[in-house]
Amino acid sequence: MKQGKAVVVFSGGQDSTTCLFWSLERFEKVYAVTFTYGQRHDEEVEVAKEIAADVGVEHDVLDMSLLNQLAPNALTRSDIKVSDGEDGELPSTFVPGRNLLFLSFAAIFGQQRDAYHVVTGVCETDYSGYPDCRDSFVKSLNVTLDLAIDETFVLHTPLMWLDKAETWELADELGKLDYVQNYTLTCYHGVRGEGCGECPACQLRGQGLDKYLNSKDRDA
Ligand SMILES: [Zn+2]
Repeated sequence: MKQGKAVVVFSGGQDSTTCLFWSLERFEKVYAVTFTYGQRHDEEVEVAKEIAADVGVEHDVLDMSLLNQLAPNALTRSDIKVSDGEDGELPSTFVPGRNLLFLSFAAIFGQQRDAYHVVTGVCETDYSGYPDCRDSFVKSLNVTLDLAIDETFVLHTPLMWLDKAETWELADELGKLDYVQNYTLTCYHGVRGEGCGECPACQLRGQGLDKYLNSKDRDA
């Protein structure tokens, strides 16, 4: 039986769309929130709006453009190159504390609607150096939010220990493999579905999908 209300931090990408479908199976009411902060591609926000409308969830777009004032980075500034973060450096797409802020705002948004479940697609497995994607951070923030707001929140991270192939598998289990494959946007160059195939996000996504589809073929 579906119970409770949840807020999904939703970007329109593979991970958060999979989390949206995961949430729709569990909660009686699901809200999607998308944070905008001057992303290079307005297309991202459009994709998020389309998917939310398509699956019939209430969707709010919240302006977080102050992030770009605080910390200019490759996701928001066209003059900064997207790089992988080799040699132990953080990738140039890094915005310090982004998930700290997003999850905190999502919790406040939820509190206004009696929605105490907050769902995020953060993941420690394909860990690319973002400290606030780690499980220990999310657990710590959960305690902090409960203390700050005096409610009992549950921060859900269904992808925390999955690699990209397993995230595709989860989408498949939810009956949404084709949907996630064709309608989501992960590519740093704003190309929907399969993407440009060359940016770090596309490579990770493509390799994961190949790995999952190969293992599925083997098992068949
Ligand atoms: Zn790409």
